[in-house]
Amino acid sequence: MSFRLRVFLLTLFVAVVATGATAWISLRLTTQQIDRSQQQATRHIADIAETVRSYGRRHGTWAGVAARVGQLSADNKQRIRLVNLYGQVTVDSDTLAKRTARPVVSPPTLINPRPSLTLAAGANVKTDYGVLDELAQYRRAVVYARCLTEDGGEPPTVTPDAYGIPLPSGGTPKDGSPCSTQAADAQEVAAADDQTAVTGCRAAADHSACLVQAFGNQAETFAPEPLQLYLGAVDDDPLSVLARPTMAAIGAVLVLSVIGTAFVARHMSRPLRSLTAASRRLADGHLDTRVKSTGRDEVGELSRSFNRMAEALEGAELAQRRLLAGVAHELRTPMSNVLGYLEALQDGVVPASRELFGSLHEEVLLQRRILDDLQDLTLAEAGHLAYRRTDFDLAELVEVSRVAHLAVAEHGRVRLTAEAAGPLPVHGDQDRLRQVLGNLVTNALRYTDPGGAVVLRAFPLPGHAVVEVRDTGCGIAPEDLPFVFQRFWRADPARDRETGGSGLGLTIARQIVLDHDGTIDVTSTEGEGSVFRVTFPLTRRYASP
Ligand code: ADP
Repeated sequence: MSFRLRVFLLTLFVAVVATGATAWISLRLTTQQIDRSQQQATRHIADIAETVRSYGRRHGTWAGVAARVGQLSADNKQRIRLVNLYGQVTVDSDTLAKRTARPVVSPPTLINPRPSLTLAAGANVKTDYGVLDELAQYRRAVVYARCLTEDGGEPPTVTPDAYGIPLPSGGTPKDGSPCSTQAADAQEVAAADDQTAVTGCRAAADHSACLVQAFGNQAETFAPEPLQLYLGAVDDDPLSVLARPTMAAIGAVLVLSVIGTAFVARHMSRPLRSLTAASRRLADGHLDTRVKSTGRDEVGELSRSFNRMAEALEGAELAQRRLLAGVAHELRTPMSNVLGYLEALQDGVVPASRELFGSLHEEVLLQRRILDDLQDLTLAEAGHLAYRRTDFDLAELVEVSRVAHLAVAEHGRVRLTAEAAGPLPVHGDQDRLRQVLGNLVTNALRYTDPGGAVVLRAFPLPGHAVVEVRDTGCGIAPEDLPFVFQRFWRADPARDRETGGSGLGLTIARQIVLDHDGTIDVTSTEGEGSVFRVTFPLTRRYASP
């Protein structure tokens, strides 16, 4: 799994847990809040309904009920909404208090202030007269109570009479109040209707039920209308109901998030911390520092890159140390020789002669050659060796090399021939490639005894030009073959020094060939001879068949 995906999944995990926890806690709080609100509403609804109904019965009207409702709402911490059967709002405590209306709980409770006649078995009220009298009394009492309320007098108290009819009685009218007169008039006003309704029951099968019904119908026209009572949410201290638990929930979620994020950060940064520590150690010179590279993600790849870099640095430092040691070693021998001769001359141990100076000259030349080769090699390995590339015929170059070495070959009594199947057009630095061939031919002549032969061959292969330098010399032991291209490596240092070899020729040759996108390799049989083979890509227009 990639590093980025891991970060994403872990962060997602923390976010989901945090959001889930918040949602769960909020849900629980809301549920509890609704439950509590409903419980309160149920507990208070009966009391509130009875108080409102009593008001209607005592006052004979709903006028002025708003003040009582406001008081009830404040006492019970509930929104109280009264609506008549036509849906018109009689009073709403939240509107009264000029506050935002809270939701109300359904279903509503019916408040019916109308009286209902109760006829006990055998009661003489069964007579038409008794019912008519009850109706007249009720109507008078209701009108009187309503008048007192509207007039601002002290309303009467309500006491149910023997037939269950709540009759307001008492009350104090204001001076000059028309209430008594209105009440007396009301008693008369519907007497004829009452009479008709009551006498209509004489023929009814269930006389009692008909009378109860007739009473209800007649009383309805005077009594206050029924209302629907709705209750709203508990008006609690907002801090204790919502803010405090919400704050606690947010705090808990925050703590959870912090712990989660800290865990994620720790988990993510651990490999980076170890990489940072390793980089510091490396910078302090501990080139053997490596980090554990587990996993196939970006951090694992970074660790592997770090290890590769550390290995390269260590390798480069080792190579540098070896090179310095090699240079010191290579220069020490000719220097010691020169020093030895000079001291001997100074002490008069050897006479100054032409041969001696010739020998001293040889030693100094060798030192210069080592330094020149070293410079070439350093430049080539750093990629700073300047190449002047042109198109030229490699077959011609082979012939030029042969001619250039003929004198040395004759001097060593070695037969030097060339077989070049030209033209072999290549693109490269002619001088540098001549240097490569020169090195191979010089070596071949150097390690071939008199009477032997060195053959240069140039021929094409598909897309490539090949040059072979074959000799019938001493050859190279199989165990030495892997080292021939290493700097300062020589099969026989003593003999090579005699012949003026620096031990760098093949190393430089290989670097030049590689810089020309070519290859160089060697096959050899000890005692029979060696074949060095160099391959270059042909220039493009000749490369295609
Ligand atoms: P040098 O300048 O000493 O010849 P090179 O890098 O050219 O250095 O060669 C490295 C060594 O490889 C030589 O010292 C020699 O031992 C071996 N070598 C190179 N060419 C041949 C060859 N044609 N036959 C046998 N040995 C060879």
